[in-house]
Amino acid sequence: MRFCRFGEGRLGLVEGATVRDVTAALDVLPAVRYPLPACDPFIANLPKVTERARALAPGAAAQPLAGLKLLSPVANPGKIVAAPVNYKAHAQEVRDNVALHNNNPALLKSINEIGLFLKANSSLAGPGEGIALRMLDRRNDHEVELAVVIGKEARQVSRADALQYVAGYSIGLDITIRGQEDRSFRKSPDTYTVLGPWLVTADEIPNPGALDLSIAVNGQTRQSSNTSNMILGVAELIEFATRFYTLYPGDVIITGTPEGVSPIVPGDQILASVEKIGSMEVAVRAAAGLPVASHA
Ligand code: MN
Repeated sequence: MRFCRFGEGRLGLVEGATVRDVTAALDVLPAVRYPLPACDPFIANLPKVTERARALAPGAAAQPLAGLKLLSPVANPGKIVAAPVNYKAHAQEVRDNVALHNNNPALLKSINEIGLFLKANSSLAGPGEGIALRMLDRRNDHEVELAVVIGKEARQVSRADALQYVAGYSIGLDITIRGQEDRSFRKSPDTYTVLGPWLVTADEIPNPGALDLSIAVNGQTRQSSNTSNMILGVAELIEFATRFYTLYPGDVIITGTPEGVSPIVPGDQILASVEKIGSMEVAVRAAAGLPVASHA
């Protein structure tokens, strides 16, 4: 199944080019009181929501997908975990180009040495919200990634069991300001994590390790690879992460980007695709109050 969130927080079931509004299925979510749970309630209750959504769908209003403002399919992830340099050819292109590594030693090591990093939850946006670039005097780059949404609490999970903890998959964009600062800082401005266009439930993607992924900017392909080229696959990343911390329902893991990262500037139009998930269009603008960079 494909769940999208759209408009002002509505829940949709995606059927081809049509979306059925099943927002009423969220009525099955338990009422929450302070302190809030450490999970995303929609994802934590996905089987219940799915059951209600299936029942509602035949009578639910259908509307064309085109023109809907798509939001992140997960509204409240407890954390956004990210894998650095997780494709060999991308690791090499970073080492080869000072404009990418800026002599920052943390960018020259392997994922096994530096581990995972976190992006601010406030950086999360849906494709319909677009990317608002900051630091326009610096290079801002796109990174297309397979995004994994965790479905149940996971601690000390072995790679053999890891995929049982996945609720589903989305396309992730890990937008990056180049420079000397820590990754978590350069990659965490508002809208610098785009998740969409919807959540594809894990049953539709039994093997996340063989998916084509690509990104085009203004119609020109910049990155094109396959998740089989990841250094640590989805199961290994879950094993690695849960050795250090608990993953909760709704936590998102963006799994790293292949070679071909390149600059984006305000006015650019991104088209990102992952096999078995789909494609999403994302517009790039300057963050409000900042001068717009001229196109080189
Ligand atoms: Mn990345």
